[in-house]
Amino acid sequence: MYDCVVVGAGAMGSSVAWHLARRGREVAVLDRFEAGHARGSSHGSTRIFRLGYPQADYLELARESLRWWEELEAESGTRLLELTGAVEHGREYIMRPIQGALKASGLPVSRLSPGEAAERWPGLAYEPYVLHQPDAGRILADRTVQVLHRRAVAHGAELRHASPVRRIDVAGDRATVITDDATLIARRVVVAAGSWSQDLLGNVLNLPRMVVTQEQPAHFAPSEAADWPSFLHHGDPGRPSRHMYGAYGLVSPGEGVKVGLHGTGIRCHPDQRTFRPDPRGADILRSYVREWVPGVDPDSAEFISCLYTTTDNEDFVIDRRGPLVVVAGFSGHGFKFTPAIGHLVAGALLDGAALPERFAIDHRLPIERPRRAQLETLLAALGAGPPGIVEPATLHTQLATARKSPTSCGPR
Ligand SMILES: Cc1cc2nc3c(=O)[nH]c(=O)nc-3n(C[C@H](O)[C@H](O)[C@H](O)COP(=O)(O)OP(=O)(O)OC[C@H]3O[C@@H](n4cnc5c(N)ncnc54)[C@H](O)[C@@H]3O)c2cc1C
Repeated sequence: MYDCVVVGAGAMGSSVAWHLARRGREVAVLDRFEAGHARGSSHGSTRIFRLGYPQADYLELARESLRWWEELEAESGTRLLELTGAVEHGREYIMRPIQGALKASGLPVSRLSPGEAAERWPGLAYEPYVLHQPDAGRILADRTVQVLHRRAVAHGAELRHASPVRRIDVAGDRATVITDDATLIARRVVVAAGSWSQDLLGNVLNLPRMVVTQEQPAHFAPSEAADWPSFLHHGDPGRPSRHMYGAYGLVSPGEGVKVGLHGTGIRCHPDQRTFRPDPRGADILRSYVREWVPGVDPDSAEFISCLYTTTDNEDFVIDRRGPLVVVAGFSGHGFKFTPAIGHLVAGALLDGAALPERFAIDHRLPIERPRRAQLETLLAALGAGPPGIVEPATLHTQLATARKSPTSCGPR
């Protein structure tokens, strides 16, 4: 019998396995696809690391993650996090709480005028309120997943790729995990199955809604050698276009400047996606880049396909029911927290530590105000008219309906 079977060897499952194995537990990690696959959410060369959250708990989790990134780098002797700094810009009412939270935590943050920012990082155009935070930058994502696999195995974990889990049965305080050629019994089962979480756990747990979308950021060729920080353009709910949804970017060494529009992809089922860029979304991204990222060639886009699994308010779902732990719903902003999430889950399983209430299955906080305003404006922009309702779930149903188009990549 295993102490723990982890389902899913993406960033999150691999981090959980690393933490459990380094604490001497017998762990098996199963993934349905081959090592290094590009069908989930964790592949690709880079992700943004940043501390700039207005919510104190997310900010502290990111700060804790920074310490764990250092630990993982030290243990593996591999560089995973490069602190190039981050620039964030947007309307004052969105930026001030971020600046306040960073200051309250004693973290360095400076405000620049758009002119000062353009002088320092000429590749970008700026909104009036610009912040620079030095303890931010890029994570080497593919390398992180490889290192977590290697370290988990070095600590004794069993890692099996191409082993889809077909069913999980719970009986009392243990669970049975069934694959095509094996039956594994475990005291605990951690399900970190990304966009497949609902498929795998739908019959066992009543999970909050998680919307799966095929996102399509792209790498663009920089027009001249310039200094590039990681950057975040916070969405502006007052602007009736998809630009208001928020954009992000960073340099992926050797590939160009990656730019994406947060959470604007087409809904899909993870097994029925096209992997092809949606032409309408591609045009919107190019036009965004033309206006806001003048330091790249907008016609040089090399698109990437990746999945978001998004909850109604973009809070993660990390909770336990008996022997089952669900680790899902990372809503397009989870990677930076990877090593801290594994620590959190290992602490809950091995030390009985409480998991944060924000992430509980039954504790869905209402959509925060700017986010709700974004959703409502987006609905209006899509021609669905003002929603005139207050329930987040209804709002999302309306949004989903409004977004349905002939280019939709799946039935869900
Ligand atoms: C385009 C894009 C840009 C992003 N940018 C950032 C960023 O800049 N900063 C940031 O912090 N975050 C970012 N994120 C988010 C971050 O990448 C994700 O939150 C994170 O990778 C989620 O990891 P995961 O382990 O939950 O999911 P996944 O990586 O999808 O892992 C789930 C795994 O479970 C496996 N699985 C599923 N079902 C089964 C089964 N039945 N049996 C066995 N295995 C199964 C799958 O094969 C998969 O390998 C971005 C995401 C995308 C898509």
